[in-house]
Amino acid sequence: MRWRGRRQSANVEDRRGRSGASAFPGGRIRLPIGRAGRGGGLSLSSLIILVVLFFGLRALGIDPMEMLAEGPGAPSGGTVESSTANDEMSQFVRVVLAETEDVWTDLFEAEGNSYPEPSLVLFGGQIRSACGFASSASGPFYCPGDKKVYLDLNFFSELANRFGAAGDFARAYVVAHEVGHHVQNVIGVLPRFNQMRQRMSQAEANAMSIRVELQADCFAGVWAHHTAQKGLLEEGDIEAALNAANQIGDDTLQRRTQGYVVPESFNHGTSEQRRRWFARGIESGRPTDCDTFNGPI
Ligand SMILES: [Zn+2]
Repeated sequence: MRWRGRRQSANVEDRRGRSGASAFPGGRIRLPIGRAGRGGGLSLSSLIILVVLFFGLRALGIDPMEMLAEGPGAPSGGTVESSTANDEMSQFVRVVLAETEDVWTDLFEAEGNSYPEPSLVLFGGQIRSACGFASSASGPFYCPGDKKVYLDLNFFSELANRFGAAGDFARAYVVAHEVGHHVQNVIGVLPRFNQMRQRMSQAEANAMSIRVELQADCFAGVWAHHTAQKGLLEEGDIEAALNAANQIGDDTLQRRTQGYVVPESFNHGTSEQRRRWFARGIESGRPTDCDTFNGPI
């Protein structure tokens, strides 16, 4: 990706090196504090209509927020990078976030709405968010409660070395996917999902989670489409990102980590699904083509 010299987002909070002694070993702890916020300024109206059709008949409950974690991420409790380490990587993340701001601002404005930009928190070790405490082992995640993306840059090393997804556009895809969750939060998808999830069986919640995740992948593709139109992509970028989507599919991850596959436990989608929905967004560039809530996925 031709990112050097591009605008860097001012919405990055660098909290690396600030995590103290761990009172929260391994894994993430979900604390139900607060509620999902309002959908905010409605946007992408036709997509919303589709979502409302899907969610419309369900009773709305009052439920805790949940983070959307992409684990497994970087090992927890490992070396915490200093603020100056990975500086090039943090600059890259700032540029990618800025590019998502530009693209989504345009897409929202095309429908007469304004895009509320998310923040992105860089952290190492453990972090406290409005969704509770999390560790690097959670992987990158988005917290609807504070509208922030949380990212440990060590995850990018994991992505390349452990998951076989190298390349800067593979990393850009990860950021764009989390920003996709933010878009879902703004247009009302996540609040509805988090309300409904509490009344669902685990199997139902997993099935719904897959639809949410695949839409975030498609939104990442929408961003990639417009980024490509700006001439920022280099040879192999799309392939690298598609490979990343493939490598973090539930079936591929489970095969790698436990040696067998348990489809009932899938909550992000198979490699084939993730790759396909990401590709759909790349081809179309239109958020309305990212309706994962109606029909087969
Ligand atoms: Zn996700």
